[in-house]
Amino acid sequence: MTACLLFDLRDKRRQQQQTEPIFILLSPLTEMTGLKWVLCKKPRLKALVHVGICRRFHAELVRLESKELPIIHHSKYVCELPANHRFPMGKFPRVLHFLLKDQVITEKQVWVPEIASKDLLSCVHTEDYLNKFISGKTSEQEQRRTGFPWSEGIVSRCRYETGGTVLAAEAALQRGLACSTAGGTHHAFPGHGSGFCLLNDLAVAAKYVNCSTKRKVLIVDLDVHQGDGTAFIFKEEPAVFTFSVHCGKNFPLRKQESDLDISLEDGLEDEEYLSTVEAHLPWLLQTFRPDLVLYDAGVDPHWEDELGRLRLTDQGLYRRDLFVMKTTVNQGIPIATVIGGGYSRDIDKLALRHSIVHRAATQVWRECGM
Ligand SMILES: [Zn+2]
Repeated sequence: MTACLLFDLRDKRRQQQQTEPIFILLSPLTEMTGLKWVLCKKPRLKALVHVGICRRFHAELVRLESKELPIIHHSKYVCELPANHRFPMGKFPRVLHFLLKDQVITEKQVWVPEIASKDLLSCVHTEDYLNKFISGKTSEQEQRRTGFPWSEGIVSRCRYETGGTVLAAEAALQRGLACSTAGGTHHAFPGHGSGFCLLNDLAVAAKYVNCSTKRKVLIVDLDVHQGDGTAFIFKEEPAVFTFSVHCGKNFPLRKQESDLDISLEDGLEDEEYLSTVEAHLPWLLQTFRPDLVLYDAGVDPHWEDELGRLRLTDQGLYRRDLFVMKTTVNQGIPIATVIGGGYSRDIDKLALRHSIVHRAATQVWRECGM
C-alpha cells in the first residue's frame, strides 16, 4: 500500500514539474526545508494566511472585526422539496440554530457567502450543463439521477452552497480555519449531477484557489460515499490531490479513481476507522504539502445513518474531526470544512450530528491559539 501511494504522489509531482515551474524545487534539500517548515508550525501558518486571494471575498457579509472561528452560512442554503422527499433539506438552518443555542458560536462569527456566479461554476462545469441546469432544461432522466426534481429554488440553493464553500476556502486562507454549514456535493460531475449533488462545491473551491493563487489543494473526503465526481474532475490535475475514505459497498456502484482511495468494509467501528485515518493523513500532508485542505466531514459513517453502512458513534465522529483539523493546523496548513452527507428523518438529531465538526473546530481554534 505504502509503495503504491508513494508512486502516486511522485507521479503527481512529476506532472507538477511539467506544468508548473514553481514546483520544480523538490530536491532532497528542499524536502528537508519543507520538513523544517512543517516543524516550524506558527511561522508557516502566518506566512500562508493573509496572502489574500486576488480579489475581494465572495461574500455578502464578512466579519473581519471578529477574531473568532469563521462560520459560513446563508439562509438560502435551503429550498422547498416535494412532501416526503428523502433528502433532509431542513438540516442546514438547524445546524446554525444549535451552534447558536448551545453558545458554541455567536452571530458575530457568521460570514454570509454570495451566490456562485456562472463564471465561477464554469471552472468545473460545462457550459452546456450550466445552461440546462440554470434554466430548467435538464431531462427527466437527468433529474432522476440527481434525486431532485428541478426548480428555481434548487438552483439557487446549490449556487449559494457552492458560494459558501468558496468563501470558507477564502476565510481559511486568511484565518487558518473556517467552517461552512453546508457543502460536500462530491458526486457532481462536470456535465451532470448525481446522488443529491448538482454542483460540485469542493471542486469549484479547489479550482478557484488553484487558478487564482496557484496554490495546491488537498481534498480530504471522509463522507461514507466515495467522492467520485471530485476524483474524476481532478484525475489529471497535479495541483489538487483527492483523498477519499469510504465504504466500498456503498454508492456509487461504479467508483472513480481518486489519488488515494481507502475502501472500507461494512460495519467498521470507531477504533478501526480512526486508526485508518490516522495512518494516512499525517504522511499525506507531509508528502503532498498542500497550501489548503478542503475537508468533507460527512456524518453518514454514523451507525444510525440511513444511507451509511459503517458503525461510528458521535464520539468517533468528534475524534475524527478533531484529528483531521488538529493535524492539519499543527502542520501550518489552512483548512476549510463542509458538512457532507448525513441522512435521518429526525432533522434535529441529524443537525446536531452535523454540528460536531463546528464544535471540534471551535476546540481546535482555542487550543491552537488561532
Ligand atoms: Zn455521503
